[in-house]
Amino acid sequence: MKILPVVAVMALAAASAHAQAPRATPAPVAPGTVLHIIAFGAHPDDCDQRAGGIAAKYAALGHRVRFVAVTNGDAGHQTEGGGALAARRRAEAREAGRRIGIEYVVLDNHDGELLPTLNVREQIIRQIRQWKADLVLAPRPNDYHPDHRYTGALVQDAAYMVVVPNVAPDTPALRKNPVFMYFQDGFQKPNPFSPDIAVSIDEVIDKKLDMMDAHVSQMYEWLPWVDGSLETVPRDPVARRRWLRETRAAAPTAAVRAALVKRYGAERGNAVRYAEAFEICEYGTRPDEATIRKLFPFLP
Ligand SMILES: [Zn+2]
Repeated sequence: MKILPVVAVMALAAASAHAQAPRATPAPVAPGTVLHIIAFGAHPDDCDQRAGGIAAKYAALGHRVRFVAVTNGDAGHQTEGGGALAARRRAEAREAGRRIGIEYVVLDNHDGELLPTLNVREQIIRQIRQWKADLVLAPRPNDYHPDHRYTGALVQDAAYMVVVPNVAPDTPALRKNPVFMYFQDGFQKPNPFSPDIAVSIDEVIDKKLDMMDAHVSQMYEWLPWVDGSLETVPRDPVARRRWLRETRAAAPTAAVRAALVKRYGAERGNAVRYAEAFEICEYGTRPDEATIRKLFPFLP
C-alpha cells in the first residue's frame, strides 16, 4: 500500500458555501497552560461524532485540538470513490475543522484496507509527537469496522513508543507519555465501554452538528444509503440540518448518565441532554484526579 505524508491541514481561507459560518474566537489562555489534544478516527467524520463537542469546548477556551483521519475515506460512498472521493472528503474535513476552530489532518491511507502495520504505527507516533499531545483520543479496538478496530490497535501500539527515541527517530520523542482515552461506543463484548469521564456538551451541540453537517457525503448521502433511509433526507440545507439534529444527536446512555451525575451532581447531571464520554486507557500515563481536572478544564 502506497502511503503518502500528511496531505491536509485546516486552512483558514476557504471559498466555501459555508464561509459565512462563524469561526470560534479563542479566549486567551495563560502561557504554558495551553492543552494539546489529538484525536484519531479511521475516517474523516469519525472524530467529529465522538469528540466534536469537547473539541469545540477546548477551542473556545483557546486550547489546541487536532483531529486525524487515519484513512482518506476513499471507499465511503455508494456512487463515488477513489481519488475524487478522497479529495471531496478532505475538503469536507477541512471545512468541519474550520467551523469549530481546530486542525483536521487526513492521512493518505486507503479506506477499508487499513492494517496495523509498522508503517502506519509510525505515522501515528509522529502525529502524537509533533502535536506534543497531552491527551490522545481513539476508538476501542473492538469495533465492528476493521478500520476502526485497527485505528484503536494502532494508537494502543503507539502509546508507549512515543517516548522511545530510537523508534521513528526522525521525529523527537516525547519526554512525558500523554494520557490516552477511548471514545464511547456501544459494543458489549468482550467488555462494554466504561465511562470514566462524561462531559455535558449541551451548549456546543449546535457547533458539533455544524461540524458534522460539513461532511455532506457522509451525513446526507453515504450513511443514510447504508441505513436504507436515503429517501428521508431533506434536500433543503436548512431542513436537512434540522434532520441531522433529530437523527444524530442521541441522549446519554444509562452508564453515561451515571458518570454525569457523579461529576455534575444529581440535579445538573440529570438535566444534561447531550454528552460525550471517555474511558481511560491502561497504557500511557494513568491520570490522577488532579490531571483529569487539568485535562478537562470545563468539568465543574
Ligand atoms: Zn468510520
